[in-house]
Amino acid sequence: MSIFGVYGVNHAAQMIYLGLHALQHRGQEGAGIATFDFDGKCTHHRGLGLASEVFDPDTLARHADALLGLGSTQYANKAKGGLDNVQPLFFHHKSGDFVIAGEGSLINADRIASYLEDHGCIFHTATDAELLANLIKKENTENRIDRIIDSLNMMEGGFAFAIMTRNRLYAMRDKYGIKPLAIAKLGDGWVISSETCAFDLIGAEFVRDIEPGEVVTVDHHGLRSTRYSQFQKHKVCSMEYFYIARPDSDIDGCNVHAFRKEVGRRLAEECPCDADIVIGVPDSGLSAAIGYAERSGIPYEIGLIKNRYIARTFIQPSQEMRERGVQMKLSAVRSIVSGKRLVLVDDSIVRGTTCLKIVKLLRAAGAREVHVRIGSPIMKYPCFYGVDTSTSEELLCSTRSLEEACRMIEADSLGYVSCKASVESTKGCSELCLACFNGEYPTSLYQHAKDTEE
Ligand code: SF4
Repeated sequence: MSIFGVYGVNHAAQMIYLGLHALQHRGQEGAGIATFDFDGKCTHHRGLGLASEVFDPDTLARHADALLGLGSTQYANKAKGGLDNVQPLFFHHKSGDFVIAGEGSLINADRIASYLEDHGCIFHTATDAELLANLIKKENTENRIDRIIDSLNMMEGGFAFAIMTRNRLYAMRDKYGIKPLAIAKLGDGWVISSETCAFDLIGAEFVRDIEPGEVVTVDHHGLRSTRYSQFQKHKVCSMEYFYIARPDSDIDGCNVHAFRKEVGRRLAEECPCDADIVIGVPDSGLSAAIGYAERSGIPYEIGLIKNRYIARTFIQPSQEMRERGVQMKLSAVRSIVSGKRLVLVDDSIVRGTTCLKIVKLLRAAGAREVHVRIGSPIMKYPCFYGVDTSTSEELLCSTRSLEEACRMIEADSLGYVSCKASVESTKGCSELCLACFNGEYPTSLYQHAKDTEE
């Protein structure tokens, strides 16, 4: 999922549309844009599909006068698909209409929903954004920022939200900093984005990351910062670096490509291999493959080509769709891989189905040996913060040994980079959440405890 908002920017809807293009890799199931015009009228359009499928010149032209707007791209898991859950969401309230878009997941969503239901709320969506909206509406404090702060202090998990009123934009990040969110300047206006790569596309100048536990407000007074938590345990999602984010994005001061390349170098040191060439799985395995080749001295080659117009398999909601996607999205370069001993570098292995298909694809193209090297540690635990890495039972390595996993994906050998090397690859810029690799969750796990009890 992604968030992209603008304040005081001409052609707000068109700018958001461009921003959503740059953030399309974070979700392809749906997209939405909402803007407020000078009279406080909200124009809102959402749909299922890519941003380019949801919006056309006519829908964007309806937002003609807006200088203020909020957009989102959505990815759906099994529980949260469908148009109802596509954000941003619009809400009426006596203090003024407002719009919310968010990403991530609350650990205590069930408890908050139950509390709100006991106070008369009825929900139209399965989103955490609707929970936040209802908490804000329920709080009795006078100022909206106080309502937001009181609401955020009831929420636990990994999240980023943006809230837009007719004359103001708020952006906030969970107190652990699990989800990224950054702010930039464009002329006299402001831009917020889940990733910095979207700033470059519209010519905005990066100002800073929003801090964990911070609410940033932008309006005609400029930018103000309010902390809703003094919590200091910063743990940005490492999967943002390994897999999710675009290589040209910086998260908390660390460039994603530079991180992946350094991980690749460390991987070559920790899991060396006797091979003829190194190839990477496009796109998110390429940086680590370059690093592996550089450190090992084995030549880097382009052995796999991606069909650009097939959606990313990992973030599609069903196993059937994922499997169909794998078959269509990659081709082996036969003249490069035929007769060679390959080091195949990928960003991660979740269920192993994609990796198995790629190994088979390369063998069918004549590869003599396929040695799989993974630019992230062994994934053993589920994520409770909104990254759809599946249940423990579905993960390739939750119960299998490395040798068993290697046999499952039909590779000649299999190696992963360590958690220690991953942390060192940020070069001190970021502290990482590595919970899906080491089981050390930065938050309490209310929902998980409830599941276990049942
Ligand atoms: S558990 Fe894994 S996927 Fe989830 S936030 Fe932590 S590092 Fe990211």
